[in-house]
Amino acid sequence: DSVFAHVAQAPEDSILGVTVAYNKDPSPIKLNLGVGAYRTEEGKPVVLNVVRKAEQLLVNDRSRVKEYLPIVGLADFNKLSAKLIFGADSPAIQENRVTTVQCLSGTGSLRVGAEFLGRHYHERTIYIPQPTWGNHPKIFNLGGLSVKYYRYYDPATRGLHFQGLLEDLGSAPTGAIVLLHACAHNPTGVDPTLEQWAQIRQLMRSKGLLPFFDSAYQGFASGSLDADAQSVRMFVADGGECLVAQSYAKNMGLYGERVGALSIVCKNADVASRVESQLKLVIRPMFSNPPIHGASIVATILKDMNMYDEWTVELKAMADRIISMRHKLFEALRAKDTPGDWSHIIKQIGMFTFTGLNSEQVAFMTKEYHIYMTSDGRISMAGLSSKTVPHLADAIHAAVT
Ligand code: PLP
Repeated sequence: DSVFAHVAQAPEDSILGVTVAYNKDPSPIKLNLGVGAYRTEEGKPVVLNVVRKAEQLLVNDRSRVKEYLPIVGLADFNKLSAKLIFGADSPAIQENRVTTVQCLSGTGSLRVGAEFLGRHYHERTIYIPQPTWGNHPKIFNLGGLSVKYYRYYDPATRGLHFQGLLEDLGSAPTGAIVLLHACAHNPTGVDPTLEQWAQIRQLMRSKGLLPFFDSAYQGFASGSLDADAQSVRMFVADGGECLVAQSYAKNMGLYGERVGALSIVCKNADVASRVESQLKLVIRPMFSNPPIHGASIVATILKDMNMYDEWTVELKAMADRIISMRHKLFEALRAKDTPGDWSHIIKQIGMFTFTGLNSEQVAFMTKEYHIYMTSDGRISMAGLSSKTVPHLADAIHAAVT
């Protein structure tokens, strides 16, 4: 008998499980709105032209070898990543009080940050939004942190529960860590306004709460890299400390390359250098050093002005297509006189719409219309096209009437 005979079958990941079910469905009209990856109008994955160009340059450069990167990753990539999120003229960067380490996309950056905090930060409680990306509680628990939730989403308005958020952070213990989605909150698509961010910042700083930003969608939400970084920059501008996990999965379409960075903004350069020395001790036994290819693509694009500009154009086109899907779906439901207020579809931002459909309605849409999505009613707008909007609108209409 196997020494593993006692191992129980684990449940499928709630998000990736949607694709597993979709793949098994033989229906020609099936639609996968579970996946958090960009698709074209034709439903195809894309590699950005500027990424192809950068890869070509890398391949043609015979001086490039496959040696290990340092533990903290590619130096150029780290510098340029910090510049991208904090801004080219960020005083924190100029004062050398930011340490940036290359990690395995957004997930790996969060994981390294969690591990560092579990080892070196005095308050082991992290507050995460209710709801949030399903991986967050698991990542932080593994870092040795205890996870608590703060109110974020209000089902009644399908918008931000701002009062609840302020109350919950207001009663958090001094020094607690707070996870904030920098923009395009997943799964709700609901972001605070700039005025609300200013209030959140003020409250958090007055209570000494430590911000940990998850920036998985910079540029992908509004189409502007600077606009989508405003929340982070607001917190850095006050001179306080924070952590930021960056991912290039969505905004450069580098999903499977696993390119990301963790930055820790410190009070001064001396602290930053000691923090970096400890980050190395976290990374070394975890994955030793990060992969070279994806980070080289990003660095190639970010350091060349023409390629950078080309990237921003392609990025904006992706963001615009998603925003236009929101308008098409909203109009289609309005044209059908589907009962209910669907304006949240155009108010929400980023890859996802939190429809407000319940799990029975979702199950009905899957069974009768072959539409696949997570049971919390989240749909990926990036998986939608002009051709499939009517089918989705029919399904939603049937589910709510
Ligand atoms: N954080 C949020 C909120 C996300 O939605 C995602 C991806 O879905 C990630 C982090 C990390 O993604 P990756 O590890 O692919 O960069």
